[in-house]
Amino acid sequence: MGHLLSSRVEKGTAVINKELVKKVLAANDLGGVARDIGLEPEEECDSGLFIHVANCPVCQERRLKISKKRQSFMCFNTNCNSHGDAITLLHFAEGLTLTEAVGKLAQRAEIPLYE
Ligand SMILES: [Zn+2]
Repeated sequence: MGHLLSSRVEKGTAVINKELVKKVLAANDLGGVARDIGLEPEEECDSGLFIHVANCPVCQERRLKISKKRQSFMCFNTNCNSHGDAITLLHFAEGLTLTEAVGKLAQRAEIPLYE
């Protein structure tokens, strides 16, 4: 069934709405996603905030900071400045379209894309 869902996503027929995006982002921890795609996140405490420091998928420098609280990332290489959420991270790291990234995260969290 998971395979069927992903092939439908690849054909671009999945209906990606705000509600699904919200659900998918809430169900996938960004540090875990970064680990899955090989960015080697390490937990750190920075100014009282718990973050992950990881390899940036865009500039490859180890200056990517992931906020566990906000579930967002930002690269502190000033020539790069890439930032976003789990969907954008997959887009940057694996070259997926945003729709494909939502599909992949939905699968990862076992969220059905269709009723
Ligand atoms: Zn970067």
